[in-house]
Amino acid sequence: MFNKDLGQHILKNPLVAQGIVDKAFLRPTDTVLEIGPGTGNLTVKILEKCKKVIAVEMDPRLAAELTKRVHGTPDQRRLEIMIGDFMKAKLPYFDVCISNTPYQISSVLVFKLLEHRPLWRSSVLMFQREFALRLVAKPGDSLYCRLSVNVQLFAKVEHIMKVGKNNFRPPPQVESSVVRMEPRNPPPPVEFKEWDGLMRIVFGRKNKTISANFKTDTVEEMLENNYKTFCATHDRMIEDPLNIRAKIHGILERVGVAEERAAKMDQDDFLRLLVAFNEEGIHFC
Ligand code: SAM
Repeated sequence: MFNKDLGQHILKNPLVAQGIVDKAFLRPTDTVLEIGPGTGNLTVKILEKCKKVIAVEMDPRLAAELTKRVHGTPDQRRLEIMIGDFMKAKLPYFDVCISNTPYQISSVLVFKLLEHRPLWRSSVLMFQREFALRLVAKPGDSLYCRLSVNVQLFAKVEHIMKVGKNNFRPPPQVESSVVRMEPRNPPPPVEFKEWDGLMRIVFGRKNKTISANFKTDTVEEMLENNYKTFCATHDRMIEDPLNIRAKIHGILERVGVAEERAAKMDQDDFLRLLVAFNEEGIHFC
């Protein structure tokens, strides 16, 4: 009956569903965006606590089932169902997002929410356990990675609940966890592509030194090209001869991170590094 390609594992434990809704701290004035409502086990509980739910569901069969579930109840006029793919949808205004969606879209979902404007208040999201632990990981944790720093740059993320496989029908193959995200408002004044370009390099091999990660032909070639383009477009002289390896190394030494490892560095370390590179005209995108 359920479509595996759409990750349809229905949350059957009402206590877990209630726990998720409680952790969203909904207000009676809130508009809630629910992604992938399925048969509506979370939806009906969300509707009890807020003004309006806008639910985006890809499977028209389940959307019809949910419509039937609220039909003739007072909730009917407070539920709007958008049939379609969340990833392609133009999102409406919302205060809070709640989602239990297929795990293969986790990463894109998080960044789509973080890019959305105006910024929302919080999101309560179910993910595969390991993905959730990556989102909250801190420097030194084994799961600390590029995803952790990229998401934590824009949001405060908190692990709020473990959910075992048997709470779903059919049970998925992996354990799940619920996290709450609160976007940093205002967002940090960092150009994300530039930041992520640096993260790709330093987390390339996160247990190697920063210096080792920069010392590859691909990285040096890319940064040299970016540097030349920057100089050409900003009326700046290019050193002759240009020794990009020495230039990069000088910056890493000055910031004091050449022998550090990304696995142990925090947001502030990365920000200092990015600013130092940019001041020298070296860019990552
Ligand atoms: N939220 C319900 C629950 O907790 O019982 C259903 C959860 S089920 C894991 C995931 C739901 O997301 C399914 O209803 C599926 O059809 C829907 N879905 C999958 N991919 C989607 C997408 N890209 N956009 C919107 N809905 C999607």
